[in-house]
Amino acid sequence: MAGTIWIPGAERLKPSAPGGTITSNAPPRVVWHTTEADPGTSSVWAAMIRVLTNKSAEPQILYDPLTDRLGQFLPLNVGGRALRNDGSTMTNRVGKVCIQVEVIGRAAKPFTGYWKPGKNFRAMMTAIRSWGIKDSWPAGPPPRFVASPPHNVPESPRSRTIWLNRGGHYGHSHIPGNDHGDPGAISVTALFAASGAPPKELFTVGQYENLMQQIKNEGAATRQEVRRQAIWALRYGVQTEDERAQANRAFDDAIDAGKSLKEALAAAARVLQPIADDLERAARKNG
Ligand SMILES: [Zn+2]
Repeated sequence: MAGTIWIPGAERLKPSAPGGTITSNAPPRVVWHTTEADPGTSSVWAAMIRVLTNKSAEPQILYDPLTDRLGQFLPLNVGGRALRNDGSTMTNRVGKVCIQVEVIGRAAKPFTGYWKPGKNFRAMMTAIRSWGIKDSWPAGPPPRFVASPPHNVPESPRSRTIWLNRGGHYGHSHIPGNDHGDPGAISVTALFAASGAPPKELFTVGQYENLMQQIKNEGAATRQEVRRQAIWALRYGVQTEDERAQANRAFDDAIDAGKSLKEALAAAARVLQPIADDLERAARKNG
């Protein structure tokens, strides 16, 4: 499927060099970043262009979530430069397209909490979908980012298996071989709602099983641990907003009370257990 190469309405920005040629046959994908600056002004817009070109770290797309300003450094069908390689894997070139979006904002303050998306945002999402990229997050939604000391909550497993094999939307925080924690816990529901999207598909039992298998292959020890990780990876796909908020609160309370990451995950898993049980029952019934 050949899609849109230049997004209608996007300002053309001058890159430091042309983008890399893509030869990958992996499914098409998007990677979301935040530039770690405050959006909304033309001075910051100009500064971000300078910073990204000076570092030779341009994405294909630059977006200001407050003004809906949209810029494009590179055609969507070549590699961007905002990711680090993973050993010998050229991360920026994984996927038939690997579209990177730098949103002017901060990972610790998710932009979907205050943004004003408009027609340029919709044009960008339409272009993304034109490549057959689904409204899904194969590694789960981006985890929360805590600025000091910088870390993600929960820690992202940065699964190589998922990244190399599955298309859809990713955060920089999901990518193997990288250590940045952006774009933070943006609301994936708000993101797709603002794109004039069809309603998001729920995860199927088959997808859940595949994910369990992948996590197991990567060495999670027990069945319980596999299930817990799968629940976390899928948590935004299978729960209501309310259940998700309850699970997040249980997790945060445990961390605040000085519990270990493992104990906090267990606290959240207790909230989500009925959902996991349903999925397992359905999986067993389907053989
Ligand atoms: Zn990034």
